[in-house]
Amino acid sequence: MVNAMPDTVQKTNLLGLTREKMEAFFLSIGEKKFRAEQVLKWVHHNRVGDFEEMTNLGKALREKLSCVAEIRGPEVVSESLSQDGTRKWVVRVTSGSCVETVYIPESGRGTLCVSSQAGCVLDCSFCSTGKQGFDSDLTAAEIIGQVWIAARSLNNIPARSSRSITNVVMMGMGEPLLNFDNVVDAMNLMMDDLGYGLSKRKVTLSTSGVVPALRRLAEVTDVSLALSLHAPNNTLRDQLVPLNKKYPLEVLLPACTDYIGGLSDKSRCITIEYTLIKDVNDQPEHAIEMIALLKDTPCKINLIPFNPFSLSDYERPSNNTLHRFQRQLQEGGYNTTIRRTRGDDIDAACGQLAGNVQDRTRRSARYQQSNLKQDDLISVKAV
Ligand code: SAH
Ligand code: SF4
Repeated sequence: MVNAMPDTVQKTNLLGLTREKMEAFFLSIGEKKFRAEQVLKWVHHNRVGDFEEMTNLGKALREKLSCVAEIRGPEVVSESLSQDGTRKWVVRVTSGSCVETVYIPESGRGTLCVSSQAGCVLDCSFCSTGKQGFDSDLTAAEIIGQVWIAARSLNNIPARSSRSITNVVMMGMGEPLLNFDNVVDAMNLMMDDLGYGLSKRKVTLSTSGVVPALRRLAEVTDVSLALSLHAPNNTLRDQLVPLNKKYPLEVLLPACTDYIGGLSDKSRCITIEYTLIKDVNDQPEHAIEMIALLKDTPCKINLIPFNPFSLSDYERPSNNTLHRFQRQLQEGGYNTTIRRTRGDDIDAACGQLAGNVQDRTRRSARYQQSNLKQDDLISVKAV
């Protein structure tokens, strides 16, 4: 006789459910909507991972929940601490790949840098994540789970409170706009009072420029926007950020300006990220081009000195060059900062995050085995 009941029921992971999805879940199991608020608070305010600890739910409901649901963050593989206080977690996601999350403490604030994908299809020439190839999109639970894990861990450190995460930046591994729905759900939880209660100004999505998704983003959220620009003209940007061939500057910059222009608070601006690479994009003529290029874009500029990694021949410019470039932009009227390198002793600095990606594109193997040119390896996922 055939058994109609499956041996194991797939449990719903509540960790990644937004307020609306949590309410729908409780209704679907025949419970009242207000349970969603109680459980969200237990999960994100108290970082509880076990229904037995949720003391304002009756015993019967707790038992029912443990049969049909779970609260499961990604598995923590390691946690390391840099000399400068930066922390890095390596976490394993469902696909088996590992991704990285970085916490950067500064006076008065603490920024968590969160990954959105295991690897990245976009293959920017200066980025370690890109060289790993691509495995998978992270689920909403795996994205918000990084905040959950970090908040749990930081809470256990004496003298640090649960408010130690004041900002979240989607600047870890992956291109967040290529994992749109999961990233939006996770960012909504970051901003929800029943989640982490961060203001929209303190949640930043960084993109290399997936224009159609950026236009969709404007319809569903109002988080802060960072654009990974890295070059002042299409010829150079095509080499550094291959996605530029699909969405060149003349379509990308208006999409960014429209996003910012559509926000209710007119004082907000785009953060332009520009990784400075020795003798590639760090010359005075590049700064002159930047000044002209960005004249209609409400922005501030963040210069990121290139962080070296083993599969790259690029070099970091000298401090003199960095400061000359900064001065030129400032004299051109732009608020320009140089990002301090943090956590490089534990490979946690910008662009050094590699994790351990089970590369489905075989890009990483090809990089290691051959001297194929970047252009031969480009594969941009359809959006
Ligand atoms: N995919 C998104 C977010 C992740 S990359 C994006 O590209 O914006 C986060 C930032 O780190 C980007 O600005 C990226 O350009 C920068 N970065 C990548 N590799 C780097 C490196 N080797 N040195 C310094 N910054 C790097
Ligand atoms: Fe992907 Fe961003 Fe790295 Fe480019 S810089 S390869 S978009 S993670």
